[in-house]
Amino acid sequence: MATFGLVDGMARRMRRLGTETAFDVLARANRLKAQGKPIINLGIGSPDFRTGDTIVEAGVQALRDGHHFYTAAKGIPELRTAVAEDVQKRRGVVIDPERLLIVPGGKPTMFFAMLMLGEEGVEIMYPDPGFPIYRSMIEFSGATPVPYVLREEDGFGFDASRVLSGITDRTRLLIINSPANPTGGVADREQVDLLVQGLERHPDVFLLSDEIYSRIAYDDLEPVSLLEHETIRDRLILLDGWSKTYSMTGWRLGWGLWPASLIDGAERLQINSNSCASAPVQMAGLAALTGPQTRVGEMVASFDARRRLVHKGLNEVAGFRSLLPGGAFYAFPNIAATGLSSQEMETRLLEEAGVAVVSGTSFGDAGEGHVRISYAAAEEELAEAIDRMKDLFGTG
Ligand code: PLP
Repeated sequence: MATFGLVDGMARRMRRLGTETAFDVLARANRLKAQGKPIINLGIGSPDFRTGDTIVEAGVQALRDGHHFYTAAKGIPELRTAVAEDVQKRRGVVIDPERLLIVPGGKPTMFFAMLMLGEEGVEIMYPDPGFPIYRSMIEFSGATPVPYVLREEDGFGFDASRVLSGITDRTRLLIINSPANPTGGVADREQVDLLVQGLERHPDVFLLSDEIYSRIAYDDLEPVSLLEHETIRDRLILLDGWSKTYSMTGWRLGWGLWPASLIDGAERLQINSNSCASAPVQMAGLAALTGPQTRVGEMVASFDARRRLVHKGLNEVAGFRSLLPGGAFYAFPNIAATGLSSQEMETRLLEEAGVAVVSGTSFGDAGEGHVRISYAAAEEELAEAIDRMKDLFGTG
């Protein structure tokens, strides 16, 4: 793990804190751009659309109307009610708004889950390749990170028996992410059913289902929500938010649905850290949920066209092989046949082709042989990036 300005006297757990290297790639790409290099940034996982006007106006209006004080730690009641209604509409389940905690982005829900459940002597299972903050936070908490591998052969969905076989009597939390970062894989309904059945044998294991990409799926695929399964609802933490669905990554707004046994602890962590999510941003989030949803559909349709372009293009680059991702906005091509490691590929693409991508190993050891390409960029940029890759490696 890269060290970062550790100094004597810093708590030992700081040595265990990892990072999200997509932000390092972004910084390197921006530096090269500032030197006048024509960089195409396919590194960061942020939709490239402007937030919808009605949402922006609601945020501005909220400030004008005086929504600039602390809110309830759990979030503005109207917003929690709107989230509950949205959950009922999309996932078909009635939830109690009192179990919702509105937080600044998707990350705080995972941070709180790990702080609350992770400690020395317990194991937390997470997907590899997977969102790098899972492992980082597990280690920070003192718990032992136990990866379960997502395989290209399985379309990067998980294999329930493989996951279940990793559970021990020390496992306290299992993290599931679908649609997934960095692979774009979507969990199979059958595998989810098998997992849930198997979990009945492990009633003490909590679940964190990261469904932040739940609205970004293609070909009429409806990603399964773990919330649909009643038998695990009393130990399920559901993470979702506004960042990806409404192109609001910089606003910082997300929500967690917590089991009755954990909601008070989560609220207390919020009071000890953020106090509450930003008041005007919560009002903007309310407008996003209750306003027209046409932009979400338009964004997903646009991602779909880019997904196809990137999938076709990548498979024409010599040594590259890419699955057609089912969700999110990432492709995770296999580049092993180029003879380069993932890290070498990241460096060469940035320095020799001016294309910023993220090494697969940034998402875990099982990411070796792959790079992550975010196709949340204009079609012309994506086509140009593919052309540059072809110039560097040839076609085949
Ligand atoms: N979960 C996954 C799987 C993600 O890919 C991301 C962001 O990239 C997040 C959570 C965090 O989202 P936010 O930016 O809202 O904190």
